Amino acid sequence: MTGNAEEAILASHARGPDGLCTGCRAWWSRLTPYPCWQIDWATSRQARSLTAALLGGRE
Ligand SMILES: [Zn+2]
Repeated sequence: MTGNAEEAILASHARGPDGLCTGCRAWWSRLTPYPCWQIDWATSRQARSLTAALLGGRE
């Protein structure tokens, strides 16, 4: 089983009122436009695992 790193990232990296990522600012004091690369990584991972689950269930 894989961990829930994707969910943890998506939960902590949220869009701030100024359009910047609150997670990156809180964790690294970085002003990163939302969605940041971590959001991209997490969403792509989720989409890939979902696709794999659908394909695996079909076969
Ligand atoms: Zn972020």
